[in-house]
Amino acid sequence: MVDSLAAWDKLDEKAYRAKKEEVARILLARLDKVIPGIKDAVEYYEVGTPRTIRRYTHNTAGTPYGFAQTPKQAGFNRCKQQSPIDGLYFVSAWTMPGGGFSGAIISGYFAAKEILGRR
Ligand SMILES: Cc1cc2nc3c(=O)[nH]c(=O)nc-3n(C[C@H](O)[C@H](O)[C@H](O)COP(=O)(O)OP(=O)(O)OC[C@H]3O[C@@H](n4cnc5c(N)ncnc54)[C@H](O)[C@@H]3O)c2cc1C
Repeated sequence: MVDSLAAWDKLDEKAYRAKKEEVARILLARLDKVIPGIKDAVEYYEVGTPRTIRRYTHNTAGTPYGFAQTPKQAGFNRCKQQSPIDGLYFVSAWTMPGGGFSGAIISGYFAAKEILGRR
């Protein structure tokens, strides 16, 4: 689901857990409408929030995909693999072409090509 860190960031631990539980119950109830009975078959569930993503990835505002895909900073407008420092390369979802794991893989491919081309 589309979400924002602002919806979770200011909650204390108790309120945070309560809200996660509320969300889980809403989603399980919706799922149960589509697949009747599934709610009672679930043995374990966990809710991940932008706060969770920030905690585990250290990504700003708990974004899973890197920089926002705005025209100014998407595709070729992202940071290139080659840095101004000789021999230093940037590879990740935050670099060209970004975002997500496909972007990260392609970014690695571009960096490898550049490095191998230097030989
Ligand atoms: C819940 C969720 C769902 C997603 N679903 C999709 C999807 O369906 N499709 C898609 O394309 N993408 C998806 N993504 C996004 C995708 O997973 C990321 O964009 C991608 O994994 C980012 O790759 P990366 O190499 O840039 O960063 P990461 O995979 O975050 O790698 C960074 C690495 O650096 C390490 N690190 C951090 N700090 C240090 C340090 N100081 N010293 C040493 N190592 C350090 C970290 O441990 C980590 O291993 C999802 C992400 C999340 C969180």
